[in-house]
Amino acid sequence: ESVFGKIVRAPEDPILGVTVAYNKDTSPVKLNLGVGAYRTEEGKPLVLNVVRKAEQLLVNDQSRVKEYLPIVGLVDFNKLSAKLILGADSPAIKDNRVTTVQCLSGTGSLRVGAEFLARHYHQLTIYIPQPTWGNHPKVFTLAGLSVKTYRYYDPATRGLNFQGLLEDLRAAPSGAIVLLHACAHNPTGVDPTLEQWEQIRQLMRSKGLLPFFDSAYQGFASGSLDADAQSVRMFVADGGECLVAQSYAKNMGLYGERVGALSIVCKTEDVASRVESQLKLVIRPMYSSPPIHGASIVATILKDSTMYKEWTLELKAMADRIISMRQQLFDALSARGTPGDWSHIIKQIGMFTFTGLNSEQVAFMTKEYHIYMTSDGRISMAGLSSKTVPHLTDAIHAAVT
Ligand code: PLP
Repeated sequence: ESVFGKIVRAPEDPILGVTVAYNKDTSPVKLNLGVGAYRTEEGKPLVLNVVRKAEQLLVNDQSRVKEYLPIVGLVDFNKLSAKLILGADSPAIKDNRVTTVQCLSGTGSLRVGAEFLARHYHQLTIYIPQPTWGNHPKVFTLAGLSVKTYRYYDPATRGLNFQGLLEDLRAAPSGAIVLLHACAHNPTGVDPTLEQWEQIRQLMRSKGLLPFFDSAYQGFASGSLDADAQSVRMFVADGGECLVAQSYAKNMGLYGERVGALSIVCKTEDVASRVESQLKLVIRPMYSSPPIHGASIVATILKDSTMYKEWTLELKAMADRIISMRQQLFDALSARGTPGDWSHIIKQIGMFTFTGLNSEQVAFMTKEYHIYMTSDGRISMAGLSSKTVPHLTDAIHAAVT
């Protein structure tokens, strides 16, 4: 009799479970629109050329060793990451009041930030958008924060519920933490406009709400690294404090390398250095120090102007392909005469379209058309190609008629 004999089987992760089900399907027409990873027109994973080049440089450099990184990670990587999200001429960076630690991709950065807040911040309530990435509530709850939601998505318009958002943040207790998707909100693909961001900023600053940005898609939404960082930069430009979790999974295609960063923008250099000293105490007992390879790739690319340029072009090509898939799907549904307004497909941005299909329609499309997606009707535009648009169009048409 096992000492673990009474353990009950846990359910599959709702997002990763989609791929498990897809892998079991033997149909030749099966299509996985659940994955949160970029695919080429041929449906293949993509390693960027510039990443291959950087790796080659690293391999050929005999002076490189495999020693432990410091607790906070690769120093160059941290500086360059802060510059990437906050902007090259960010006053906060010039004033040395930003502390950045290398973490295990976006998820690890969120978790380290949350653990730090749970230990050192006075208000333990975090507001997350409704809906949001499924891992957010778990990460924050397990770190010891108390999770509440604010209204975000309006199913009627398939757009932003801006009034609801403002009302909920206005009603939040002063000092509460607010999780904001920096761009390309997952799962809805709905972002505030710059004018709306400005109103959110004013409201949050006037109430002393603490912004915690999740930036998992910088450059992936619009194709421009700067445009996709504007929300964050607005909140830093006012001199106030915030946290930012960055991921290089999507924008550099480094998914499995687990490379990301947590930056905490503070009021003064002195506060930032004390904050950093405490971040080390959060990290050390969890995993001692982060892995070296992925961060070295990123640092190699970010510090070389030619490679940086090459990266921005490859990034734009990925973003453009996704934008073109939106147009192709929208055009195909229009040509097909599929009932309903599908304009949200081209209005939403980033990797996902929140189709508005309900869980029964999703189940129908999986059963009859071998198309896999999360039950909330979210489809990954990156998983789609010109060749598979007709099949998806047929499935959506059949599901809604
Ligand atoms: N935040 C959001 C909104 C995401 O969509 C994701 C990935 O899907 C992440 C964070 C974290 O991803 P990773 O840990 O792979 O960087």
